[in-house]
Amino acid sequence: MGLALPIYLDNHATTCVDPRVVDAMLPYFTAVYGNAASRQHEFGWRAEAAVGKARRQIASLIHAEEHEIIFTSGATESINLALKGIAEGYRGRGNHVVTVETEHQAVLGTCETLESAGFTVTRLPVDEAGQISTEALENAITEDTILVSVMAANNEIGTVLPLERIGRICRERNVLFHTDAAQAVGKIPMDVSSMHVELMSFTAHKMYGPKGIGALYIRKTSPRIALTPAIDGGGHEQGVRSGTLNVPGIVGFGEAAAIAGREMHAESARIAGLRDALVHGLLSALEDAELNGDREDRLAGNANIRFAGLRADKLLLALKDIAVSTGSACSSALPRPSHVLRAIGLSDEESMSSIRFGIGRFNTEEQIEYTIGRIADVVKTMRRTSPSHHHALS
Ligand SMILES: *Cc1c(COP(=O)(O)O)cnc(C)c1O
Repeated sequence: MGLALPIYLDNHATTCVDPRVVDAMLPYFTAVYGNAASRQHEFGWRAEAAVGKARRQIASLIHAEEHEIIFTSGATESINLALKGIAEGYRGRGNHVVTVETEHQAVLGTCETLESAGFTVTRLPVDEAGQISTEALENAITEDTILVSVMAANNEIGTVLPLERIGRICRERNVLFHTDAAQAVGKIPMDVSSMHVELMSFTAHKMYGPKGIGALYIRKTSPRIALTPAIDGGGHEQGVRSGTLNVPGIVGFGEAAAIAGREMHAESARIAGLRDALVHGLLSALEDAELNGDREDRLAGNANIRFAGLRADKLLLALKDIAVSTGSACSSALPRPSHVLRAIGLSDEESMSSIRFGIGRFNTEEQIEYTIGRIADVVKTMRRTSPSHHHALS
C-alpha cells in the first residue's frame, strides 16, 4: 500500500485530464461524431449544440459572452493570432507593441517575428517579485502603441499580475490589451470586464482539460476589433479561425471550465495549503534553500525554490520519482538559465540551481510529505559528496 511513484508535481507544464472531463468527451468520439458545421442533419446539429454549450461554459468562467470565444488549438495559437492579427489589422495606426520580459516564449517569440516585420517592441522589466511598474507601463505607451500584452500569471514563478490596473491604463490610453492567461484561467477568478481586456489567450490542458484545444477571447466592440485571421478557409469561428471544430476537445474544455468555476475557490485554498507545507518543509529542512518570486501575489500551486550551490539538472537526475522541472519546459537539451529568473535578478548560477514545483488538483498531502523528505535527503547527500558545491553561492 505504498505511494504510487513517480509523483507528478509539474502542473504548470500540463495537467491530468479530470476523469469527469473524459466522461463528458467520450460520446463525442463515437456517438455524436458529426461536424459542427453540418447544418443539414441531426449529427451536425447535436455537435453544434454541444459546442454551443461548451462556449457558454467557457465564456461564463471569464465573464464574457459566448460569441466572444474563438476556439483554437491552444494558447500558443491564440497568442500568435492575437498579436500578429492585431499588428497586421492596426498597422495603419501604429507599429509599437509593449510586453514584459518574463512572458512565455509564445509571446516573446511572436514579438521577435513582429520585430522582423518592422514593428517596435518594448519589453518592460520586472522587480524581484516578477511585477512590472505600472508607471513604467504608462511611460512606455506612445502615440504609435497599438497593443499591450501582459500575462495574467507567470508559468515559472507563479506571479499574478495586477490586470485590472494594467487594463485601466490601456483603456485610458486607448490601446488594445491582450493577456496570456494560460496559467490563470480556472485557477484564479478572471473577469474580462473588470480587467478591461480586449483579448485573452488560454488553453484547456493547463486546467484539467485535453491538449490541443484553446481559446481566444475577443471583446465585441463597435466598430469591431479588426484582427487579421491567420488561417483562412471555410469561415468557421466568425471567419477568424477556419477549420473543422475539435468537438470532443471543445466539450472537454467546456466541462473543465464548468468544474473550475464550481471548485476553484475551495481547490485553490487546499492547493495553497499543500504548497505552503512544501515550501515550509523544504526551507526548514535545508538551510540554503530559498523561495524565488512573490510571496503574496502568487498562484496557489506554484513554488520555485533555489538550492544554493547545487545544479538543479543534476538534482533532478537523482530524483527520478518526483516529476518537477528546472526553469521552463523548453525544447532545448542544454540547460540554459531561465529568462524569467534572470529578469527577477538571479545570477545564472542561482537560476540554474532553481526548481519549479507545480501542485495541482490531484496532489495529496502524503505526496507532499514524501517530496519534502526525498528532496531534503538528496540535497544533503549531494552536498556531502560534492563539498566544493556547498555554500558556493552564499
Ligand atoms: C502553457 C502556456 C502557454 C502555451 O499554451 P499551449 O496551449 O501549450 O500552446 C502559453 N503561455 C503560458 C503562460 C503557458 O503556461
